[in-house]
Amino acid sequence: MISLNEAVAIVKNNLPPSGEKSLSLAEALGHFLAEDIVAPEPSPRYTNSAMDGIAVRFVDVAGAKEESPVLLTIIGESRAGLPFSGSVGVGEAVRISTGAMLADGADTVIRLEETREAGNSVAVLAVRKKGQDVRRQGEEFETGTLLLRRGTRLAAPQAALLAAVGIDHVRVFTPCTVALLVTGSELVAAGDQIERYQIRDSNMMMLQAAVREAGGNLLSSRRVVDEREATSEAIATSDADIILCTGGVSVGRHDHVKEAAEENGFAPLFWRIRQKPGKPLYCARKGNTLLFGLPGNPVSAFMCFAHYVRPVLGALCGQPFGWPSCMAQAVVKLTNKGSRPNMVRVRLTATPEGGHGVGSVEHQGSHMLTSLAEANGYVILEPGQSVDVGEMIRVYSYDFRCEPGTVWRHLYLS
Ligand code: AMP
Ligand code: MG
Repeated sequence: MISLNEAVAIVKNNLPPSGEKSLSLAEALGHFLAEDIVAPEPSPRYTNSAMDGIAVRFVDVAGAKEESPVLLTIIGESRAGLPFSGSVGVGEAVRISTGAMLADGADTVIRLEETREAGNSVAVLAVRKKGQDVRRQGEEFETGTLLLRRGTRLAAPQAALLAAVGIDHVRVFTPCTVALLVTGSELVAAGDQIERYQIRDSNMMMLQAAVREAGGNLLSSRRVVDEREATSEAIATSDADIILCTGGVSVGRHDHVKEAAEENGFAPLFWRIRQKPGKPLYCARKGNTLLFGLPGNPVSAFMCFAHYVRPVLGALCGQPFGWPSCMAQAVVKLTNKGSRPNMVRVRLTATPEGGHGVGSVEHQGSHMLTSLAEANGYVILEPGQSVDVGEMIRVYSYDFRCEPGTVWRHLYLS
């Protein structure tokens, strides 16, 4: 048996290569950039007004006050999308809307509230400084500025920034492909007729969801009976970056995943980890394909997915290999009385003082899904380790959409 950290290191050293592709902005949402994005144009693109008002020459209105207003002649209007074609001369002004192009000759905007209409003229009642309420071309960034780095996840703000500079296609990391094989002759899908001695298949639904949340591209999902040939055939016909199996990796007479994988040319990287749950985890490699044999017990399968598979999916789509996690203060005493490191399902909450608290959840058995459904993460406790109330411990998130190294979004839910 190897240690948890040894197993992580082996997985990390055997990552399938990542790919890239070009997608439209709409399709690229949620993906990670595979290129640095440099501004193809400045922002603002042209000098424009920050306010509704009038565009003027500062020299004409300097010193304007409520008691001694300056009268200007209105010679036209610059609207959003409809600029003024002339030029502002001595004693002249042009009406202007927010975002409209600053008229030639003008250098300053007087907001509507600081003017008074007087027929064809306008009285300027106040002015602070030259260039007020003008957004200069390039004041946010010039052409050539680095806007987004390779590895950035595209969410609404990043997509908006790209659209704002006229970029409609980007290169992104190709999501890691996954073929799912759920083994077990006892398994029945949720909607199907079930006998007393059968088990409902929860792993397929769970792992399909987990793969999607983690940014993977699920190519196929199949159920396989506990027969060596059927298992071998299923592995032979699965083609993806990751073949994700569940069940059939223990020492039982009907556990065939390991032999079937090796029959198909997979070289074992490890089998069995000093951890609880998930001790029988199996990992093998053939060329650029990794095969994981997750245990059949649903909680074990999920924990192994979270700690070993999820970082691979993340790394292939452009994130650092790792886990979304944070430090939190124990609100109950957490203890591992066992002889193996224990991955304990926990619930992270916001404390009234504004910190993060970590509490335990009941029913920690590796077949008990309620513990997973109630938890939002896990902690790893060494054998004999106990964490007293108030002590800090690292909590790993079940929110697979979070990027490693960023603040875990669940923190904002109490
Ligand atoms: P195995 O690792 O195949 O020996 O399975 C261990 C336990 O997990 C057994 O009780 C199985 O019935 C159960 N199990 C295996 N696969 C699934 C599944 N897809 N959904 C729910 N339970 C499962
Ligand atoms: Mg089985």
